[in-house]
Amino acid sequence: MNTHHTFDVCIVGAGPAGTTTSLFLSKYNIDHLLIERAIFPRNKVCGESFYGRVSHVLREIDESWAENLFQSGVLTTSRQINVTYGKNGKALKIRFPADAPPIVKCKRVVFDKLLLDKALESEHVKYLEGCNICKFEKEKQGWQLTDISGTTIIKTQLLILAIGDKPIHLRQILPNYRMDGVEWLATRRYYKANDAHGIGLPGETFIFSKPLPYTVYTTPLSRDCTMIELMIDKKFARKINYKLEALLEQTIRENAVLSTYFNELEMTGKAEGVSMLLGTNPRSLSWDNTLVVGSAIGSIHPVTGNGVGHAMRSGQIAAFWAGQSLRYKNQSATFLQQYNKAIKQRFRMDYVKGFIYAYSIKVPRIALPLSRLLVYIQIFEIKFRSLPIKKLMFRPFEYYFRRRL
Ligand SMILES: Cc1cc2nc3c(=O)[nH]c(=O)nc-3n(C[C@H](O)[C@H](O)[C@H](O)COP(=O)(O)OP(=O)(O)OC[C@H]3O[C@@H](n4cnc5c(N)ncnc54)[C@H](O)[C@@H]3O)c2cc1C
Repeated sequence: MNTHHTFDVCIVGAGPAGTTTSLFLSKYNIDHLLIERAIFPRNKVCGESFYGRVSHVLREIDESWAENLFQSGVLTTSRQINVTYGKNGKALKIRFPADAPPIVKCKRVVFDKLLLDKALESEHVKYLEGCNICKFEKEKQGWQLTDISGTTIIKTQLLILAIGDKPIHLRQILPNYRMDGVEWLATRRYYKANDAHGIGLPGETFIFSKPLPYTVYTTPLSRDCTMIELMIDKKFARKINYKLEALLEQTIRENAVLSTYFNELEMTGKAEGVSMLLGTNPRSLSWDNTLVVGSAIGSIHPVTGNGVGHAMRSGQIAAFWAGQSLRYKNQSATFLQQYNKAIKQRFRMDYVKGFIYAYSIKVPRIALPLSRLLVYIQIFEIKFRSLPIKKLMFRPFEYYFRRRL
């Protein structure tokens, strides 16, 4: 039997971007439908270290709920990253100032579920799980969506696409959808850690130049779990004669710090491989009756890997503009352009850095010094943020923006 749903706003995808959009729509008392094709808890391959914006957005969702998650240890934090250049290279210790937002660490399977559970507490959301939308038909007044079985049909005025970082689907759905970016490949493993390797350790980043530039990240996720991930530009991966898994194995064996960490630890599960598009210059994030949020807008930060924070922030901004479009009964592309502008304003610096980094890694000789420079810019930004002069200069803008949210 067919089921029909009609909602003013419909979000497809219940990752961090979709659930955050839902949470803020509920805050604005807007009834909406949230659709997810997976059954939660679902896993997502990720570095599982989330930067500044995550702790901010979590607190903006619900201060006491967020505090509880930090206090109870569900979310762990760190204020330090160690970056090492080359095989036995110089280590750069980046300590965040005490008042800077910490790096948040949590397994995605846990994090995404707790965001979803929080979103579903609201009476403004109806949730369809295990519903894979495969047909998106544009109508005059909105969209008609049909699931893979053809039995669930949804009509909506405003479609919010939060379907993750596979823009190929978006190209099929949206006319002229273009997103520049650099595709990276990643492989990662989990290890059963003991207390000594547990959450007390900072995240470590290793940048290697041979055989071609690649990076390795380690993330201690909890007292009993540590993750290691290798990332490389897809073009470089094609050129070198290694399987990524073998390259990671060799790197662990040959690097003094990594071998001390991992040689004694027991690997759990299988290694996972994935590709991702690091966005550098998104073209358009809104069409008639449509907003795109999350990593679908190319918001994965190429230096820090921060994608979850951007996904959540873009969801928050999209919810605001969705609310405005309903209030003014205007879902035209021209009206929704304001969402594009807000996003570009928010993420401008990240896109600039992304652009520089994406081009630099094509020229291995400048990749290392440049990534070092970008890390310094990052530290400078963090430090600069804590200076009183910055506060004095930017408070009025912050105030203005908060009011707009
Ligand atoms: C290898 C790798 C490492 C990363 N490391 C980090 C990191 O360390 N820190 C960080 O902050 N970010 C990291 N990221 C980026 C981060 O994973 C993404 O930015 C984040 O997942 C974006 O959230 P999202 O909600 O936009 O998309 P997703 O989390 O991908 O969620 C999209 C959801 O949409 C659902 N969906 C898709 N299509 C449909 C459909 N047709 N119908 C119904 N549902 C659908 C999917 O099932 C999924 O649940 C990494 C990414 C990769 C690939």
